[in-house]
Amino acid sequence: MEGTRDDRNRRRPRVRRLDEASINRIAAGEVIERPASVIKELIENAIDAGADRVEAHYANGGKSLIRVIDNGCGIDAEDLPLAVARHATSKTDGSDLFSFRSFGFRGEALASMGAAGRLTVTSRAAGAQTAHTITVAGSQVSPVRPAALGSGTVIELTELFHSTPARLKFLGSGRAEARAVANTFRSLAMAAPSVGFVLIEAPNGGKRRQVVQLQPEAEGSDGARLARLNRIISGGFADNACAVDGIRDGYNLSGFAALPTFTRGAASAQHMFVNGRPVRDRQLYGALRAAYSDFTPAGRYPVAALFIDCEPHLVDVNVHPAKAEVRFRTAAAVRSLIISGVRAALTREGHRSSTALSAAMLGAWRPETSPPQSGEWRRRPDHVPHSWNRPDSGRSAPPPDRPQQIADLPPMADAPPPENETASDKYPLGAAKAQLHGTYVLSENGQGIVIVDQHAAHERLVYERLKQCFAGQRPDSQMLLVPEVVDVSDEHRSALLFAADALSQLGLQIESFGAGSVCVRAVPVILSANVDCARLLQDIADALEETGETIALVERMNAVISRMSCHGSVRAGRRLAAEEMNALLRDMENTPGSGQCNHGRPTYIQLNLTDIEKLFGRR
Ligand code: ADP
Ligand code: MG
Repeated sequence: MEGTRDDRNRRRPRVRRLDEASINRIAAGEVIERPASVIKELIENAIDAGADRVEAHYANGGKSLIRVIDNGCGIDAEDLPLAVARHATSKTDGSDLFSFRSFGFRGEALASMGAAGRLTVTSRAAGAQTAHTITVAGSQVSPVRPAALGSGTVIELTELFHSTPARLKFLGSGRAEARAVANTFRSLAMAAPSVGFVLIEAPNGGKRRQVVQLQPEAEGSDGARLARLNRIISGGFADNACAVDGIRDGYNLSGFAALPTFTRGAASAQHMFVNGRPVRDRQLYGALRAAYSDFTPAGRYPVAALFIDCEPHLVDVNVHPAKAEVRFRTAAAVRSLIISGVRAALTREGHRSSTALSAAMLGAWRPETSPPQSGEWRRRPDHVPHSWNRPDSGRSAPPPDRPQQIADLPPMADAPPPENETASDKYPLGAAKAQLHGTYVLSENGQGIVIVDQHAAHERLVYERLKQCFAGQRPDSQMLLVPEVVDVSDEHRSALLFAADALSQLGLQIESFGAGSVCVRAVPVILSANVDCARLLQDIADALEETGETIALVERMNAVISRMSCHGSVRAGRRLAAEEMNALLRDMENTPGSGQCNHGRPTYIQLNLTDIEKLFGRR
């Protein structure tokens, strides 16, 4: 029932100004979500203050205590009340909000902490006679008092969210919050290799435990950065990383990206920094995903630490209260800078495959360990590709054509062609010596033994070839003698016909053939004439469907090409003649990115002679 106009007037709530404490509490909620956000703000402040040593303590995941101690420039006694007030900062006078080099200037962090818990700031400004301290609890500020402190600043926050139980409830367990604190701490440490960092778990009355300890790395150089990253990222990042660099439209890209086989199961392995500040920005992750899209399987995240630096006016770092997202003036330039920079690095290093692989392999071969049972590989560290233990899908490796015995070796090993001898020194992948289990090509090069997965390698070659076609080279198309009519669902039919022009650039010609079917007139030569058209179209339609219509067709075609190349890989389980094997190796050498198949599996593995000698106790 509608009330009368008078009724409604009486019920309408009045607009009122919030009191100062409520305003602060609301603002605090934006900046301070959880203990990790406190750690982030405090450490950023310490680095801004020029500290070269930062120590942090926490108890109960930071819920009962967070303390950050630094040896920076300190705060003058008379500035202490201002430092804990809202919108007070020493980092800008407000006249130019967009030329900022320091970690932030919202001037909100300390005030928010004072609203969210009990905050104590103790500091001795450089050159001052004594230290001073100030306490804020529930936005009530204490007078400034003298205190004992040699130098620098100690900031302590206790009773976080005690006055807002609703927020407290949203926090995770002590252990979950501690994990977030440590992760935040480590990513800040990545951005400042010249600063020493210590993180200590200091439970009230319990035993202290050092969680992170990082010595300052020698100032400045790329080497210091890689050394710092290597200490933080487990599994031998330095050995598996390619240096990335590039410049575009005033944005400078540097850092390191892992080989596509050095991956983790979550995006948290990917670290992004803008002007030295860690950010978790969706656009940047998207660019990185696009850069690796040719190389890694869905659900795997190659480890990376990328740094974007630019003039402060080219990026707004204050769009997000916790400063986790940023807004670039030309976002498209940053995206293509990341894609092209990472791709170039991977292409340069295309013939390396993760050392983690050969390490795992050597581990499996060590005489003292029993041979791995099936499933054993799964328990290895997660940067070993999950599907190393192939074949993993029915399609990837048809069964070998004959029972496998040593006697099955092709006869070539005893009569290699003369140029084969020199091939082992001349070519990176060496000279093919044998084929094993109808699947692996064994070759010898200057450093040792190379084992090639012929199916994975061939798939990659087909993929690269199709991509070249798509990029404008004339498609190699094979007309079918009798056009094949394939039944498809209505959605698939319209998706396929929509992409028909793009597909014809790959050599696949399809036409409409009445409701419920599509007619195939020609297929790419490289997929061989006896391709199963129904399955091919099904796979292409699936790929188109998965990528979704919001993405440009050109980008969706990458997924299509990846699917198509599985169909062309006829060589799995096929016995190869010596020339075919060597041709495959030479092809791989000449094809960028052929160190991995397009599902991120390695296409070959190299065992160095020195490692083999170690296995046999010769070294
Ligand atoms: P902002 O960092 O955005 O300026 P904060 O609330 O984090 O705002 O800090 C307010 C001010 O307090 C800073 O501008 C700085 O002058 C001072 N300050 C905070 N932490 C430190 C510290 N560890 N060492 C020296 N000065 C500090
Ligand atoms: Mg700050």
